[in-house]
Amino acid sequence: MNPDRQILKNASLAVTGDRISHIGPAARVEAQVTAREVVDGRRFVLTPGYVNGHIHITGEPISKGYVPDDSGWAENVLEWLIPLYMAQTPEDEKLSAQLAAMEMLRTGTTTFLEAGSILNLAEVRETLLETGIRGRIGQWCQDRLFEPDADQAGETEKQIRKLDEALDAFPERDGRILVWPLLVGHNMMTTELWQHSVARAKAIGGKVCGHMSPVELDVEWYLANTGLRPFEYLADIGVLGPELCLTHVVHLDDNEVKLAAESGLNLTHCPMSALKGAYGAGPSGRFPELVAAGANVMLGTDGNNNGNSMDMMRSMYLAAGLFKDARRDPKAVPAHEALTMGTLNGAKALGLESEIGSIEVGKKADFVLHDTDRPEWRPLLNVVNQLIWSADGRSVHSVWVDGQRLVENYRCLTIDEERVFAQIDEAGKALVARSKLPDKQVWPVV
Ligand SMILES: [Zn+2]
Repeated sequence: MNPDRQILKNASLAVTGDRISHIGPAARVEAQVTAREVVDGRRFVLTPGYVNGHIHITGEPISKGYVPDDSGWAENVLEWLIPLYMAQTPEDEKLSAQLAAMEMLRTGTTTFLEAGSILNLAEVRETLLETGIRGRIGQWCQDRLFEPDADQAGETEKQIRKLDEALDAFPERDGRILVWPLLVGHNMMTTELWQHSVARAKAIGGKVCGHMSPVELDVEWYLANTGLRPFEYLADIGVLGPELCLTHVVHLDDNEVKLAAESGLNLTHCPMSALKGAYGAGPSGRFPELVAAGANVMLGTDGNNNGNSMDMMRSMYLAAGLFKDARRDPKAVPAHEALTMGTLNGAKALGLESEIGSIEVGKKADFVLHDTDRPEWRPLLNVVNQLIWSADGRSVHSVWVDGQRLVENYRCLTIDEERVFAQIDEAGKALVARSKLPDKQVWPVV
């Protein structure tokens, strides 16, 4: 993923501290460095770590798959996800974050942007710091309540205070886990809250994220209440720009595509959620046009009851395939474009383009070894095709973040995997019991 997109054969890479210090022909690098440790890479394809642009790391990993697969967007969110989130204990959230970090790392994701749905920010942050993964987290705000007749008085001040308190409590601006001002999105914020969040993000060098237009509801609400489509409204109030990361963004018109490209907005495509939630991304999504117009499109996996996997390689595969099929156009979203979305575009959206997203001297040593001693990797004739179309996260053998090896031989070194596996089933069962939501498995469990 260097600027020339070179695929280096028989190359070596050296890490000094947390950064890549040398890349080049193996013999040359070996002559240049005296290594403390040498990893024989001949069996592997090395890629940058993937950047997951939208994921919910608590609430859903621990209730993964409980929500039936025939619920549309509104039923999924209002009737299932909110009760499941609200039934969590602080211990559940920590366990959920460990499971999420484990799945991300073991499928090659080294950096993520959380959606903001964490309830106990301090504990989850501590837990994530122990795993070594790189992430940006927050505690989302909304100052328009779900209930249309609810009393909104004082809500904006309250939410601004909550957002400011979270940012002030975690003032670190450098490090693997940082706290950013994150929002619910949709039509859940007033102008004041949008503007305050973006202003705070600018001041701390962070970003704001929010959901928008997975289905037509947001478009209809903004047209009815502001006379503008969502991106037009956000441009109008001065927040549409590189500080904003909007997720789903399936239902856009031509002017919104143009606004996205001109403003530097970051857009997160979550193809697994779109497929499962019937959002219409294939027939209605404008991602090929967004890319063609120069907009920054990254990929996400969303929550585990939307797209139920955190494997970014599945997201890249679907991003490359969805539009080819929907448009009967084999040239739509080539495999190498999907790989760019999953690496460099995500890095750019997070303001980390000079730090991660490619294998270049001076960048952070965040990279993945894919095991080619597997049937899906052989014969290895076209490495990008193999990566996007044949392989998935199951061939991720080893992962480094900041020069620290976090996965080795398919196991997380920083997470007690056996303990998480031993605890997660009971915790998940107890959580769904507390939520009082019915078990909707179609076939009888006998
Ligand atoms: Zn989401």
